[in-house]
Amino acid sequence: MTTHQTATTIDHFDTDIFKRQESKVQSYARSFPCVFERAENATLYDQDGHAYLDFLAGAGSLNYGHNHPVLRDALLRYISSDGITHGLDFHTRAKGDFLEAMRSHIFEPRGLDYVIQFTGPTGANAVEAALKIARKVKQRSNIVSFTNGFHGVTLGSLAATGNEHHRGGAGLSLTGVTAMPYDGYMGDDVDTIDYFEKVLGDASSGLDHPAAVVLETVQGEGGLNVASIEWLQRLQRLCHRNDMLLIIDDIQAGCGRTGSFFSFEAANIQPDIVTLSKSLSGFGLPFAVTLIKRDLDIWEPGEHNGTFRGNNHAFVTATAAIETFWRDEEFARSVQDKAALLTQCLRAIAEKHGKDLFRVKGRGLMQGIDCGSGKLASAVSRAAFARGMIIETSGPDGEVVKCLCPLTISHEDLRRGLKILDDSVAA
Ligand SMILES: *Cc1c(COP(=O)(O)O)cnc(C)c1O
Repeated sequence: MTTHQTATTIDHFDTDIFKRQESKVQSYARSFPCVFERAENATLYDQDGHAYLDFLAGAGSLNYGHNHPVLRDALLRYISSDGITHGLDFHTRAKGDFLEAMRSHIFEPRGLDYVIQFTGPTGANAVEAALKIARKVKQRSNIVSFTNGFHGVTLGSLAATGNEHHRGGAGLSLTGVTAMPYDGYMGDDVDTIDYFEKVLGDASSGLDHPAAVVLETVQGEGGLNVASIEWLQRLQRLCHRNDMLLIIDDIQAGCGRTGSFFSFEAANIQPDIVTLSKSLSGFGLPFAVTLIKRDLDIWEPGEHNGTFRGNNHAFVTATAAIETFWRDEEFARSVQDKAALLTQCLRAIAEKHGKDLFRVKGRGLMQGIDCGSGKLASAVSRAAFARGMIIETSGPDGEVVKCLCPLTISHEDLRRGLKILDDSVAA
């Protein structure tokens, strides 16, 4: 190898190395085949310096954008002062600060009383913990999940996930979960809670009495289906009447994505268990928790375990994020404003290019356009990429183009992204 070639390898990665050396399991990288190098708020830069507007934002893990300066500086200060990095589940200063920030800025103002379980650092692990504690509390094995729900790809969480492609990856039967129709699944005229209520009340329906129900209030991977406020309230009442726990998986819809810290605040419900991950660290660091109503916290020490439950760097950035964005109502209001603009622009795009073909779905800053088919939606995503924007699809057939930009995106970038989307749909 000549010196020149060595320099080339170091300065400029050929995508060949990823084809040759990385498993075929890679997915997002297939849609956006360039080599990224740096990022700032809603913009990613590849190694050639090309800028891409990021409307995927780490699949919802970067609600406060890439490298938010306040979070980054807090982390740099912490590292420079030899702060603990890996802490098992030791009490650390950083963890204490996080617990205090959650108590004073998140739980107390909302009248919520949860204990926080630090699980392994992925969303799926938080869901596993939620399902386990629900089964342990109720001494029943069955859990109800909902059509098109996505809860992760470990065996327990995968059993609660609808998607055939993901379920197929398990390689064994997925049990202990019964799927019920989500809100709107049977069309606008059918309230699916009626069906759930009917089978619950019928001892011969074949439904084993569930310990809990688990759901997203807006289905992130399942195609941006939205559970209405009334439906969520009816579901909570149904749970109470039938001795079932209500688990809200807020891993994607939480941390401000729908315009409030928790996605269920608009429905004024109080889930028994809540899972959070993705944007919880605020910086894209791995971090997941399961929130458990105090009286349900019957875990034995170490009963749900994990080596990486003490990512103190994530505690530091999560605390900085809470203190920066959730001290008052200002940030939530700004998200609501951007969400209103998003709704307005998406509706205009749908109207312009064919109201019968395109349909706007979702809530808050997780909305998108149902293109009717995965083929058309991925063509829109490809056209957007060619115009300098990263945007992905979701839904059973990948038919929904999903806007998941950072909540901190500037109005200018938001409008620019929506113009690109408009052009891409036209193309
Ligand atoms: C992403 C996601 C998960 C799984 O999180 P991982 O970190 O990928 O394991 C679970 N539930 C929801 C709603 C998600 O969006």
